[in-house]
Amino acid sequence: MTTPRQSCAHERFSAHVGVQRLTDDGGRVRNFIAEVQVSCTDCGEPFHFLCPDTGFSFTRPTVNVGATMLHAPIAPGEAVLPDRIRFEVQRPVGSGS
Ligand SMILES: [Zn+2]
Repeated sequence: MTTPRQSCAHERFSAHVGVQRLTDDGGRVRNFIAEVQVSCTDCGEPFHFLCPDTGFSFTRPTVNVGATMLHAPIAPGEAVLPDRIRFEVQRPVGSGS
């Protein structure tokens, strides 16, 4: 950490991704969860995730309290495409009208 957080432009990033393999009492794998954390390489400031709900779910992304870790349910192989796909594109905050 070389740059004070207050004056850092947050231009370089570090990310940590862990994968949790959750088993039942018989040792069978029931779920996989990817855990993602992002921080600024220069000042160490942790980033927080803006959209997901707080908590823990096996069916949708969530974040921890403080939103600094994203928990995303994952599965091996290719996903079956859903009947409907919602795709959104929004302008970045502060990009004008
Ligand atoms: Zn920074």
